[in-house]
Amino acid sequence: MSPKEITKLDITSEVFKEPIEVIKQLSANLEGLKYTKVIQTFVLEDRRLNLSIDSEGTGEFKGKVVWIGNTKDEGAGTIFCIDNKSELKQITPTAENTETVVLDIKKELIRVTTSSKTKCAVCGKQIEIFDEVIGCPLCETKAHKDHMIDWVRMKHSCPVCKKSLNVSSIGVIFID
Ligand SMILES: [Zn+2]
Ligand SMILES: [Zn+2]
Repeated sequence: MSPKEITKLDITSEVFKEPIEVIKQLSANLEGLKYTKVIQTFVLEDRRLNLSIDSEGTGEFKGKVVWIGNTKDEGAGTIFCIDNKSELKQITPTAENTETVVLDIKKELIRVTTSSKTKCAVCGKQIEIFDEVIGCPLCETKAHKDHMIDWVRMKHSCPVCKKSLNVSSIGVIFID
């Protein structure tokens, strides 16, 4: 009996970690995958890699991966930029919004299964995969990035732990 060929690979931990880990898995499993590294972003040249999102609330989303990059606040995680023909969308799969990320090698497809488990500390709505997330550096409360930054700019504190916070000019929240 020949060993069963691996056609599906769980890359959830790599995606939650950083883009270079994702690229390593992609290059090891997709023969001849071409990409260009531009600073911290990996631009996929031939756009052959597909990505689909199965989510409870918003239905299915599917497109081609354009680039894979770092999250802007330099925290852990990976941003995927997806071209679904009508627009370019960025998704940030994190433990708050994603159940699993699986690479289907035969279909050249990354399948993201979402589950929103966390509510934004500012607006109270679920944090979804298309939302950029930021955390309080002290209590690690999560919120939509824009909501948290607006809140801290106005109140100079965390909405949950109430400790003093501030926002830098590039949108990084720090302990004041
Ligand atoms: Zn919010
Ligand atoms: Zn806090």
